[in-house]
Amino acid sequence: MEKIRMVDLHGQYLRHKEEIDNAIQEVIDTTAFIKGPDVQHFQDELSTYMGTSHCIACGNGTDALQIAMMALDLQPGDEVITTPFTFIATIEVISLLKLKPVLVDVDPDTFNIDPAGLEQALSKKTKAVVPVHLFGQAADMNRILDFAKRNGLFVIEDNAQAIGADYRLSDGSTRKAGTLGTIGCTSFFPSKNLGAYGDGGALFTDDDRLSEKIGAMVNHGMKKKYHYEYVGVNSRLDTMQAAILRTKLRHLDEYNTARQKVAAAYDKAFAAINELQIPARNPDSEHIFHQYTLTVKKELRDQLKAHLQEQGVPSMIYYPVPLHLQKAYSDLGYREGDFPITESLCKKVLSLPVHTEMKDDQLEHIIASVDNFFKQ
Ligand SMILES: *Cc1c(COP(=O)(O)O)cnc(C)c1O
Repeated sequence: MEKIRMVDLHGQYLRHKEEIDNAIQEVIDTTAFIKGPDVQHFQDELSTYMGTSHCIACGNGTDALQIAMMALDLQPGDEVITTPFTFIATIEVISLLKLKPVLVDVDPDTFNIDPAGLEQALSKKTKAVVPVHLFGQAADMNRILDFAKRNGLFVIEDNAQAIGADYRLSDGSTRKAGTLGTIGCTSFFPSKNLGAYGDGGALFTDDDRLSEKIGAMVNHGMKKKYHYEYVGVNSRLDTMQAAILRTKLRHLDEYNTARQKVAAAYDKAFAAINELQIPARNPDSEHIFHQYTLTVKKELRDQLKAHLQEQGVPSMIYYPVPLHLQKAYSDLGYREGDFPITESLCKKVLSLPVHTEMKDDQLEHIIASVDNFFKQ
């Protein structure tokens, strides 16, 4: 059996080696490293895939979130509602822009922001909501969009983990996660479902004016060469990454299906284990399993992790410390006990390997290793 990894990027590269190598070589041959033709092609192809009018590529997913907030003209002191159970980038950019993150606890089953807490987080200063589609399935967007509409708020989706997931809106139509709010943001960090060979990110919007502004902002706020319309940033997707991503975008649905197959095998194997909860599904959202995350009885989680390690099975804790208890964010004034569900999940969650290259013998070994922990 090959060594089991959380993500097998090398195996995936070997499967598409020729396509990828050719794409890279072509960029080198033309030396159009910045703003080469692949960037525009990738933006066009990805906006078509997502079913949105505009896609603007940028340097990484964190920048995408920051640029979204800049493009919406959020001002110091404005409040932005989001979740404490996410990757740091989500609140990092809020703080960096001197906005105020206002946190709302998550649903214990889906791990996504609980819409029931939104009303209480609202104030006169609230300008935007940032739902995070954690681990590969969309937050409860029907309720979030309704709340935002009633209160005149922007919705910035952090779709770094759910690119390609379909979502059913309350009118019965289906759209991709990341195209439901005012602006959607995503990341092409190598381990994401659509991963580059380095950093990358993108923003999505149906708003022509916003798209134009974002397009300028990613490149120093420049409209015409050396004429600056906005204060912007230097956050372009480089051509090499765009060329690689064009190749991989053609396989994205196949990648997501491969992840779903692994998840289905885990579900089937673990559903009957009382000490575990398999990942719950939001009935309106497809789940594309950026992570397959179990909720384990608190006192057993670390033992299970150690047991798996001994069996050659890696596992990860996403995330071990809630954002409101991180040192860098202590000035937000939150305390232990403020978000009990997030705090409890940080002690109970465990993510198993899920990726596009999982072999049958590896999958069987992972399942057997979890099983024999609970049978011993
Ligand atoms: C990966 C990730 C980001 C940041 O993306 P980078 O490309 O690494 O900057 C933001 N939010 C979430 C939820 C993520 O998982």
